[in-house]
Amino acid sequence: DQTVKIFKELDSRDIRILMGIEAGMQRHEWVPVEELMKFTGFTYEKLQFKLGKLMKNDLVLIRSAPYEGYQIYFPGYDVLAINTFVKRNTVSAIGDEIGVGKESIVHEAISEPDIGIGDPLSVVIKFHRQGMTSFKQVKRTREHLVDKEHFSWIYAARLAAQREYDVMQKIYPDVSVPRPIDHNRHAIVMELIEGNSLNKTKLLDPQYFLDEILEQIKTLYSFGIIHADLSEYNIFVNPKGVKIIDWPQYVTQDHPHADELLERDVNNVLNHFSRKYKIRRSSKSAIEDICGC
Ligand code: ADP
Ligand code: MN
Repeated sequence: DQTVKIFKELDSRDIRILMGIEAGMQRHEWVPVEELMKFTGFTYEKLQFKLGKLMKNDLVLIRSAPYEGYQIYFPGYDVLAINTFVKRNTVSAIGDEIGVGKESIVHEAISEPDIGIGDPLSVVIKFHRQGMTSFKQVKRTREHLVDKEHFSWIYAARLAAQREYDVMQKIYPDVSVPRPIDHNRHAIVMELIEGNSLNKTKLLDPQYFLDEILEQIKTLYSFGIIHADLSEYNIFVNPKGVKIIDWPQYVTQDHPHADELLERDVNNVLNHFSRKYKIRRSSKSAIEDICGC
């Protein structure tokens, strides 16, 4: 895969340049090349050479007028997050892409918490991509690359990862979610879930799994939380039970649309079991049971 291949080809000086651009972007929409020279201590020629390679792989973007400036792009940001995880020892190897969602790219990886002690753990890295679709459109029209749109993707993706990690930490292990392991920038490391999402599975005991899912929604609600994007795509099943994934859009009970969102979550699940397994349950009594009202 691209990101992984690129990461392996980068050296510590490339990382330093990426970090310089990231730092500079707090103050500049396009980080002036002079500032990068200061940050890295590299000559102009050396920087040009290195930046050329980074640009070729889409890790950074250049604007040459009115001054020479650089921005980091998603793959460059991925690289910085991977670099941090490797340094912290929460990731020791990265594998294939195993999922592309609406707003993320998910890679398989290995974590060795204590090298030499214990078994390596299978994990995933979820790189958030919020704000990328709009940015792509902006990029296509090229000349009109608006700074605000640019900043918004880093900000949106970072915020989404932070939110997702925080809520997973709060509800794990009471609610059945992948164990959250680490978080940096727009990326999360979490336990790899075996099995498949509901939409890709034909359950032999659908009644049991439906009960399990409703039970999870109930436990979640006891934390004052509603998933708000629950569907057969975000529920994993395996012989051990269910795991609910994809949390950045969760809401709390005091959200103005909390009731509707809970109802929608429950109905998505009930409709799936009704369509696929002809199991009919009353949505009203399921919701009453969840919120005890
Ligand atoms: P999105 O918001 O992009 O849908 P998801 O969290 O649903 O993000 O992840 C996208 C896909 O990646 C999922 O549908 C699933 O196939 C895979 N995936 C995500 N997290 C895990 C995990 N912990 N274990 C296994 N696969 C996962
Ligand atoms: Mn999803």
